[in-house]
Amino acid sequence: MKFLCVLCALCGFQSFALDREAFTFTNYDLDVRVEPEQQRLAVRGKLTLRNDSTIPQKNLSVQISSTLDWRSIQFEGKPVQFVSQVYTSDIDHTGALSEAIVTLPQAVPPKAIVELAIGYEGTIPLDTTRLTRIGVPEEVAKHSDWDQIGKSFSAVRGIGYVAWYPVAIEAANLSEGNSVFSAAGKWKRREAEASMRVHLETPTISEQDTAPTILCGGQSTHDLTRDSIPKPPAAECTYFPLNFVVPAFVIADYDLLDRPTAQVFYLPDHRDAAESYALAADLALPFVKEWFGHPREKVQLLELADRDAAPFESGAIVLTPLGKNDSALSRLTAVHQLTHAAFASSRPWIYEGVAHFIQAAYKEQDNGRQAALDFMGLHRTAVADAEAALAAEHHQNAAADESLINTSREEFYRSKAMYVWWMLRDMVGEPALKKALAAYHHEQDKEPSYMQHLIEARAKRDLEWFFDDWVYRDRGLPDFRVQSSYPRPIVGGGFVVAITIENLGSAGAEVPVTLRMEGGEVTKRVQVRGNSTSTVRIEAPSAPQEVVVNDGSVAESNTSNNKFTIQK
Ligand SMILES: [Zn+2]
Repeated sequence: MKFLCVLCALCGFQSFALDREAFTFTNYDLDVRVEPEQQRLAVRGKLTLRNDSTIPQKNLSVQISSTLDWRSIQFEGKPVQFVSQVYTSDIDHTGALSEAIVTLPQAVPPKAIVELAIGYEGTIPLDTTRLTRIGVPEEVAKHSDWDQIGKSFSAVRGIGYVAWYPVAIEAANLSEGNSVFSAAGKWKRREAEASMRVHLETPTISEQDTAPTILCGGQSTHDLTRDSIPKPPAAECTYFPLNFVVPAFVIADYDLLDRPTAQVFYLPDHRDAAESYALAADLALPFVKEWFGHPREKVQLLELADRDAAPFESGAIVLTPLGKNDSALSRLTAVHQLTHAAFASSRPWIYEGVAHFIQAAYKEQDNGRQAALDFMGLHRTAVADAEAALAAEHHQNAAADESLINTSREEFYRSKAMYVWWMLRDMVGEPALKKALAAYHHEQDKEPSYMQHLIEARAKRDLEWFFDDWVYRDRGLPDFRVQSSYPRPIVGGGFVVAITIENLGSAGAEVPVTLRMEGGEVTKRVQVRGNSTSTVRIEAPSAPQEVVVNDGSVAESNTSNNKFTIQK
């Protein structure tokens, strides 16, 4: 049945080029039945698609995970012709997709909408194919691609992990650098305005069994049926709009710890770890409120059954193993999720960048500036490596645009953005940055420069150059070196040291310069634009010994040339 129209396909499909990205999926309305015993999933629903290309389209592509099969596709109540094929792509954990290439009765003009009734089903087992085939050991891969419908525990993430709802994306390959992240990122951006309703249910259970908890993201209503009448436990989730979220669902025998700040869904015997996370969220709350006011929603933590699973976040929800009872780590996780619950933006560099920055700021409050800089330092190499890889790619593709406002790279919209927020706070001061973030309203964020103007207005300072180098364009990272340092004795004792800092990189920054001397040190900040020098004069009451540029607060490509010893 799924090869309904193989014959007509064989004679006709080779003659045209299929534009897989012509249509935007504007609405999903899906009824999903999950049978954990069989690891199965069956979906019936409606898809609305809009032709966003410039020419009429008679064919379209809809793709699902390769362990699922297309059962039916209808247009205006009638089955349409489609051919189903395996399409190799690492966008899915199986490394392939079941792609249906649909031939519509008539071409869809640009901007016109088409609605399809769809049906597909199959299994979602644990599958590490896309990782093991590029050489990742199975043992490591299964803690990263942990998605599956399992007998006792199911957790399945959407785009970038498992195509459990239809997508249409050109093939991506994990062995080609950033191709998978970039394809997933591009899809999320295209689908940011789309909406989705998912109704999830599991089979009717007998009276004596407890119903599993079904959870999915978005604005969810959980019709948990734990009463005596056997009913199919169900949950309904809506995403309106999707807004970069990765729709996911979890089905497990959870217990719930419900606190004013956090809801923790935990597996039996993990009550202690659940309470420790809830406590961490309570402790982190005042800090987040100071910046953003009270969170609009509770944060949700869903425990993953695999103790070594890599955590995953989607909005204010985090899926993570519990049990490793690390309160400092719990508080860092909580402060990040609480920031998401309190501060919304549809721009990833703002939404994620601010949440990572708040983690660093929280670390600073707890353990001091150096601890925060060390925390950020864990991200520095990743940012520097990503910039280097990008610089190499740019040789091939000059049009590649990975500015913070456009990037789909996590190293940039998370780690680099965290540095950007930290640098902004160092430059304008915490009160001004707090006021600017408090004045930010995501629904008014229509122009990339909106945030710049909010900060400038409160800081009374021109930041155009900084946003140009770090946000609107990708100019790589700075590379500071101390070019020269001349101490001059002054009347009455002591010295004035003229220090010249050179920036070998193309991104400018304001960077701290520290002069160390006998019995102490003095730090001044100096602005050094890309590929230029700046001189700062620092007074030293005793003999100057050493100059250090950048305390780690500015992301820099090379930190091996930051020290300069002053000759006696
Ligand atoms: Zn986040």
